[in-house]
Amino acid sequence: MEVLYDKGIYFPYLDLWMDATRVKDFALISHGHRDHTARHRRALATPETARILRAQERVRNIIELPYATPWEGDGYRLTLYPAGHCLGSAQILLELEDTGERVLYTGDFKLRANATTVPAPVVPCDVLIIDATYGHPRYTFPPDEEVIERLSALLQATLNDGAVPVVLAYALGKSQEALKLLLQRGFTVSVHPDIYRMALLYREAGVDFGGAFSCYTGQDLHGQVLLAPPHWRTSPEITRIPRRRSFLLSGWAIDPHTRFRYRVDDALPFSDHADFPSLVRYAEEAAPERIYTVFGFPNLSAHLRDLGFDAHHLAPQQMLPL
Ligand SMILES: [Zn+2]
Repeated sequence: MEVLYDKGIYFPYLDLWMDATRVKDFALISHGHRDHTARHRRALATPETARILRAQERVRNIIELPYATPWEGDGYRLTLYPAGHCLGSAQILLELEDTGERVLYTGDFKLRANATTVPAPVVPCDVLIIDATYGHPRYTFPPDEEVIERLSALLQATLNDGAVPVVLAYALGKSQEALKLLLQRGFTVSVHPDIYRMALLYREAGVDFGGAFSCYTGQDLHGQVLLAPPHWRTSPEITRIPRRRSFLLSGWAIDPHTRFRYRVDDALPFSDHADFPSLVRYAEEAAPERIYTVFGFPNLSAHLRDLGFDAHHLAPQQMLPL
């Protein structure tokens, strides 16, 4: 039994792909972010992720599997668990028919409370494949409440100056969480059409934002916060707003150069991924016999080896026994 990484996680013995970014006949999809999907001929995902994929017209033929509902595959049993990352995001558990081994792929996940998703459990397993996006000790995030308090103060000061605050966050996941937290603090919020479209899917799935928000179509933004995806910061729709200040929400804000790299007025470390201490906590609580880290930094696997785990960074094209 082996696992390899080749633009997706592949189990040759089961001929099974997870989060492949090249088109496959069949693939499991942990969540709807584009760097985890391709136009597969057939896929399996949660019903919420299926909605997102269909809205983006990416995959049509999708087996919808709700959380905590076993599904029998060829040589394995599959169960999805919440990942706390974005609407519908899932951790994927395979229980192998012949050996009974439990293989768990976290996908992108966040262990800290997420205002707009189901909390992510730690799933006990024998083999853990864990997302190491922030797998370096310097990525230790302050509590989300602290970051949102600081953001609120910056937004209020901007509004008091008669300027327009622009909050930049990814269109699926982080922006919906930010939207809810800002509405809770009494801000009037307009959102980019992509964020709006995804927020409506959240609402259909039962997420209550706790207040009204509007879709930005060029209207006057006086007294309002504009929420937009990061790539939009240089678009004419934003740059023509005469007095504006921009604030990026990203885990990379831990790096001091981030605000210069993205040319924003400030960057705050608010993320929909686990930070380094959460990654280590996951490994400790899941207590696997072997760990593979994927994406991000190899430092996490080195740290886990120091803690006594059999841990490896799963590099592209590398074949490793499970
Ligand atoms: Zn993601």
